[in-house]
Amino acid sequence: MAVSPLQVHQFKCLSDNYGYLVHDPVSGETAVIDTPEVGPILKALDETGWQLTYILNTHHHFDHAGGNQEIKQKTGCKVIGPKNEAEKIPALDMALGDGDTIALGAQVAKVFDVPGHTAGHIAYWFEEAGIAFVGDTLFALGCGRIFEGTPEQMWASLQKLMAMPDDTILYCAHEYTQSNAAFALSVEPQNDALVSRSRQIDELRAAGKPTVPSTLALEKATNPFLRPTSKDLQANINKLGAPIVEVFAETRRLKDNF
Ligand code: ZN
Ligand code: FE
Repeated sequence: MAVSPLQVHQFKCLSDNYGYLVHDPVSGETAVIDTPEVGPILKALDETGWQLTYILNTHHHFDHAGGNQEIKQKTGCKVIGPKNEAEKIPALDMALGDGDTIALGAQVAKVFDVPGHTAGHIAYWFEEAGIAFVGDTLFALGCGRIFEGTPEQMWASLQKLMAMPDDTILYCAHEYTQSNAAFALSVEPQNDALVSRSRQIDELRAAGKPTVPSTLALEKATNPFLRPTSKDLQANINKLGAPIVEVFAETRRLKDNF
């Protein structure tokens, strides 16, 4: 695979969030994806020596935008966030929605509206670099809880993400993978790719290592929320032959009660 033109520095925040600095070495521009926790973000900037250009918010939850004000004050960066929940994003300078772009040097991120977890959630796809920041919409082996939308909306959002190239590297906002794996195995135990991924996840976590990022191809093969067309999954949740969105909705409902 080609060397990515962007550098991503990943670090832990709060109990199970990830913070990400994204750096374009050509222009020197740097973005932080969300602001889960101020201290670790400032430390990451200090360690890398990178100067913050932008905060790129995915959605308004406190573990994503709670540090906006202080990070902006301390770095002088600009705050970019979702148009459809702009009023809930602290210190917002520029609002983006479906089809908009934001550039980090010559590297352009396309914005997708991916409502469902929140009404205005957006994702950032750096197409040339082959990486996407998907916030709380698509997790490794999971998807976000549907707090402000409908299963129909969430499924449409996931389908937008599924249209990216299969080798796209996915950075989600939380380390939820091990518990997601337990649920995934409960609804599709026949999936060999899932069984082996689950073993790898246990090994990574036992070694204290992150399971994030993953790839779209791996999620398509193993993530139950991207697999409502799987006959095994449908049969296991008593939805064989049901409309795809109904299979998705039932999978999400079961996870909420798992
Ligand atoms: Zn959230
Ligand atoms: Fe979150």
